[in-house]
Amino acid sequence: MDAPGASCAQSLLIMQSPSRLPLRCWAEIDLAALERNLRLIRASLPAHMRYVAVVKADAYGHGLQQAAARLMHAGADLFAVANVAEATALREIGPGWPILLLSPLLPEEDSYVAEYDLTATVSTSDEVQRFNALGQSVGRPISVHLKIDTGMGRVGVWHEQAEKLYAEIVAAPHIKLAGVFTHFSSSDEDPAFTAEQRHRFLAALQRCPGIRLDQLFVHADSSAGLETLEGARPFNAVRIGLLQFGILPRLNSLLAQVHTEPVFSFKTRVGLVKELPAGNTISYGRTYTLKRDTRIAVLTAGYGDGIQRASSNRAQVIIHGVRCPVLGRVTMDQTIVDITDIPGVTRGDEVVLVGRQEKAEIPLAEFSRWADTIPWETLCSVSKRVPRVYKTQLGL
Ligand SMILES: *Cc1c(COP(=O)(O)O)cnc(C)c1O
Repeated sequence: MDAPGASCAQSLLIMQSPSRLPLRCWAEIDLAALERNLRLIRASLPAHMRYVAVVKADAYGHGLQQAAARLMHAGADLFAVANVAEATALREIGPGWPILLLSPLLPEEDSYVAEYDLTATVSTSDEVQRFNALGQSVGRPISVHLKIDTGMGRVGVWHEQAEKLYAEIVAAPHIKLAGVFTHFSSSDEDPAFTAEQRHRFLAALQRCPGIRLDQLFVHADSSAGLETLEGARPFNAVRIGLLQFGILPRLNSLLAQVHTEPVFSFKTRVGLVKELPAGNTISYGRTYTLKRDTRIAVLTAGYGDGIQRASSNRAQVIIHGVRCPVLGRVTMDQTIVDITDIPGVTRGDEVVLVGRQEKAEIPLAEFSRWADTIPWETLCSVSKRVPRVYKTQLGL
């Protein structure tokens, strides 16, 4: 059965179809793959697990409204965003889905929680009082999730003080507790500390008298934590960002079995082809010396689009199904690549920065490593200049 709002999703896609100008650098977003990924992740989890779709930062650069609409259709139970601006954009798609704000609010932002029917994260007494007062003023309770800090040291009440804050929430008549959660600080590298955080969280909950966990969203695991989940109650929800976009935080046993597909590809084109003689030292800062007579292609994208300058002299791209190296520095609008070994490259040819072309593939993780960064940051660095082109089941 379709979730409510699915028809809104369709019209949204039509409105946001790409401009007719030729694309110089663009991201292709495969919404059908996104939907398949959510269904796959769900199928790999115990049946009682609910799905919190993390769509902050413009759905990791994929486009908030398009991605969220498709995730609604695919059966997400709750959406998590960073802030009020993201939450209101999401609420425009339609009513009915709980939207959790992960970040603390600024003083001027509180009233939007009531106006847009949002769920706030609570870590302090001050927040309990503010949201209680807000609930009283609008005449209906404000929904909150209690966040417990089990070692991350960021948002949340420190786990040893959680029961006190819980008591304050219970005593506040205009607040409705809808969930409890924590966030792991090193789930992709330190299983022992993650287990300790899980233990601290459960111990803190046990000290909350009368808490009805079966009636709350109880969540801790994000993409990297899933392998240690084991489906153990009282956890009844996961909070997934990166993995739903088909990117493995790292290869590991459980996640490797979930064959998610990349949703994002990053493409540009050849703007110019020319020959340069051996021995010359080219590019900004004279950072590459031509070892042979070289045919180069100048690509119509640079760091102004999201090819990180840190990947200068390291990155590769795919042209005609073959990898070729970036020469010298990535510049704001153009990037130089060596096409000496690829016959027949001409102006206008499609170039893959991230994704697949014929038999060659550049995964987002590899593209990120060339710039010494992580896939999360790479996706957030694809700039506003880059149109997102949405692929549905029907093709582009
Ligand atoms: C971003 C975020 C997530 C999602 O993490 P992924 O690793 O992308 O799955 C989950 N929880 C919180 C609190 C976050 O800020």
